[in-house]
Amino acid sequence: MASAGNRKRRRHTNQRRKLRWAQRSICAGCGEHLPGASKVGRRHPDNATFDHVLPRSRGGTHALTNGLLKHYRCNQARGDAPPTGCDLIWHDYVGVRLEHLAEKERLVASPGAANAKNSG
Ligand SMILES: [Zn+2]
Repeated sequence: MASAGNRKRRRHTNQRRKLRWAQRSICAGCGEHLPGASKVGRRHPDNATFDHVLPRSRGGTHALTNGLLKHYRCNQARGDAPPTGCDLIWHDYVGVRLEHLAEKERLVASPGAANAKNSG
């Protein structure tokens, strides 16, 4: 059970790292720098948190494509509100960057695997 939890947390950490790269370490809520997780505590208002573009209460998922990194305080301020224009612009921008990243990873892994994934 503990190992499954660790695996899950690692995957989330990896997602966060990708989002942080895609957003150039900038908060999607206020446009200020997102400090590294080791710099501030988990409950620090400046800590980077995963904000759901489409809130979970409105059917949004935990997928990387439904996420933006925001300060804890910016995430809390938004609550369950529907995405704003800024959220959607960020979402588009991050989506394009992540697609490029995925493309690069596919090329490194194997071109055959990419085809198999696309068909399923
Ligand atoms: Zn912020």
